[in-house]
Amino acid sequence: MVRGDATLRRPDPSAPEKAWTDFVFLRKNPMGRHKEFWHHQSGCRRWLIVDRDTVTHAVFGVEDAATVVAAERAGEEA
Ligand SMILES: [Zn+2]
Repeated sequence: MVRGDATLRRPDPSAPEKAWTDFVFLRKNPMGRHKEFWHHQSGCRRWLIVDRDTVTHAVFGVEDAATVVAAERAGEEA
């Protein structure tokens, strides 16, 4: 099940109101290659990031979302 844009990142808590409004309400609807969150709800129940073409439905890659987020957080701390 598709759960939305996987390229968005939560703003800093002290970010201006506009940054939060954009994060919460604004979404792109791209044609072509895009990274999306998918929830494997009926299977292993993991959150995945699927690199997919929204026009052809070709899938270019899948990553475990928890691994990606952990790597990003490790990068932030470095
Ligand atoms: Zn699964």
